[in-house]
Amino acid sequence: MANRILVAGGAGYIGSHVQKQLLEEGFEVLVFDDLSSGDEVNILDGAEFIRGNILDKDVLDMAMSQDIDGVVHLAAKKAVGESMVYPEMYAENNISGSINILNAMVNNGVKHIVFSSSAAVYGMPQYVPIDEKHPINTINYYGYTKRAIEENMEWYARLGKLDFAALRYFNAVGYAKDKSIRGKERNPQNLMPIIMEAATGKREKFSIFGNDYDTKDGTCVRDYVHVSDLAKAHTLALKKLMAEGQSFTLNLGTGLGTSVKEIVDATEKVIERKLNYDYAERRAGDPATLTANAKKAYEVLGWKPEYTDVEEIIRTVWNLEL
Ligand code: UDP
Repeated sequence: MANRILVAGGAGYIGSHVQKQLLEEGFEVLVFDDLSSGDEVNILDGAEFIRGNILDKDVLDMAMSQDIDGVVHLAAKKAVGESMVYPEMYAENNISGSINILNAMVNNGVKHIVFSSSAAVYGMPQYVPIDEKHPINTINYYGYTKRAIEENMEWYARLGKLDFAALRYFNAVGYAKDKSIRGKERNPQNLMPIIMEAATGKREKFSIFGNDYDTKDGTCVRDYVHVSDLAKAHTLALKKLMAEGQSFTLNLGTGLGTSVKEIVDATEKVIERKLNYDYAERRAGDPATLTANAKKAYEVLGWKPEYTDVEEIIRTVWNLEL
């Protein structure tokens, strides 16, 4: 019988790509999502769907009791700025909601969880590329919620309740090449969807935050990893947990650094016209450079990103508009 996976936050941007990868690999998929930021169009044919919020323990328990073999948990709020203004909202949604998931798993004998963590746990880099041994020095509340959940999973694992894979994403970008996922994020806060809104006329212009960083062109450098590559890492991680039952924590990035200006230039090339943007003040809390050392993901999972060319990645987004 196929393994049955509950994907919390499965209707979201990364969750929908995880859903697709699971279905393609023959898993049964039960999406659990409250559609607060996810989109119903992202529930793919072949997936089951329960509309529920992870703060609702009864619905969560009902979902978890349906012969679930493993969980992928991506249900979270993720706007860094917002988390610094409304930490209580992030505490409840991200931390309490995740504890509810862990407890529903324990109550129903579900052993394996792949958790959507973030490079935000590291805070300001002391060196780049960042490996998993880099000190944890979280500087925003969003990142803290991710670390708090990792720590809880570490305790639950130590106490024999479950095993986990914590996947620390760098900058997720792109869309499935076959255009099967079309849901766009509402009120995006991240660079790529903001640029795309400018490219499609939904937004008049955008700003590049800072051009006086100590980088190749003065704009911030990030590690942009394609969402389909990220999704693949989730199924690899799940299979590993199911086979071996040993917990692990990994960075997911390409190891390549791309500046904001390079992303903008590459987008202009792909869309074949100029974008309307200006340079604005630095955004608080932005490190100049943040790139991943993802050797461990290769060693543990055999994971290697297929997409390494930003233009190709941007094309997977732009194609949705054509
Ligand atoms: N950025 C920008 N303009 C925007 C949004 C983001 O210049 O409208 C920059 C941001 O300062 C950072 C990079 O783009 O250097 C990636 O930001 P994003 O919020 O996408 O991800 P983060 O690296 O903060 O996780």
